[in-house]
Amino acid sequence: MGYALTKQQLNEYLKALGRQYLLVGPIREKAKGTFSDTDKIVYGVFEAFEDLVLEEKAFYSPKEFLMPIRETLFHFLDGQIVEPKIDTKPILIFARPCDLNGIRRLDTIFLKNGDIKDSYYERRRNLVKYVMIECTEGFDTCFCVSMGSGTYKDYEAAIRFDGNQTLLDVVDSTLVTEGLSQVIRKDFVPEYIKENKVKVVIPPIDKVNNSIFEHPIWKEYTRRCIACGRCNTSCITCSCFTMQDVEMSDDGLLGERRRVWASCHIKGYTDMAGGHGFRKQNGERMRFKTMHKINDYHKRFGENMCVGCGRCDDVCPEYISFSKCINKLSEIIKEESHE
Ligand code: SF4
Ligand code: SF4
Repeated sequence: MGYALTKQQLNEYLKALGRQYLLVGPIREKAKGTFSDTDKIVYGVFEAFEDLVLEEKAFYSPKEFLMPIRETLFHFLDGQIVEPKIDTKPILIFARPCDLNGIRRLDTIFLKNGDIKDSYYERRRNLVKYVMIECTEGFDTCFCVSMGSGTYKDYEAAIRFDGNQTLLDVVDSTLVTEGLSQVIRKDFVPEYIKENKVKVVIPPIDKVNNSIFEHPIWKEYTRRCIACGRCNTSCITCSCFTMQDVEMSDDGLLGERRRVWASCHIKGYTDMAGGHGFRKQNGERMRFKTMHKINDYHKRFGENMCVGCGRCDDVCPEYISFSKCINKLSEIIKEESHE
């Protein structure tokens, strides 16, 4: 069902939804940016249309509402295991198609990667619905069109913020509030971006062979990458975590097990018992991330993991561009295949 809302009607609608749902969208955190007088755009809880920031890309993705940065899985108390309760208020995430496609990748990793579902992820995922924010322009570093993730059809509602008028397409009947009966009905079909400024060419998976793993291209990233992990923490599709057992008594009978975001770029990620680490060079870590995002995941699940949100390019303090890396890789593979 389609609606055309005035600003006041939109805020009344959001207020009504807010009684049922935690509303999450791109918002501004004042003075939380890189420098003390700069802001950061993040995904956070909002109440009114004026809280949303639509003209800038969020530094972080909405993934922390599905997989918190640090999550206590259970407490252990003298031989007993107790799972902590979580807030069960349903969540309505306002996000663009790339991020919604990214969450679909997270669903695959946590819920469809083998016979056992990740119950900690699933209990949060079941609380979440989406309002897709129409996105027809993108930002400077986006390459969602190349990754086939600039469109998304499985939304519960879609919204176009258009000056003083907001168009809304509501698919899920639980999002039709009483107040909407007073609003003008107007059909609305969201439009999608057709072209980004940045384009990437993904190397065909059957052309990638082992020689690329030894290629000197990765040495450049050993020189440039400082292994800060920002590209991973901002990425909507990075889903790795590490486990921590925190003991709170001398005898080890009291404590908790947590999972905490981890990152393939960071020192220690591949360390094993005995001190062996698989990817000591930063370039090897860049290689691992790249191949995972555009090759390994594709082989296993039939689509690329990367959705082309461009956040890794935005946040890298060393100005390393992932989109340029993919294109360089494609050129090398093309040359090696004598095409
Ligand atoms: S690898 Fe970069 S462009 Fe791709 S989904 Fe992650 S942050 Fe976005
Ligand atoms: S953000 Fe840049 S410097 Fe930091 S780990 Fe990623 S590629 Fe390396």
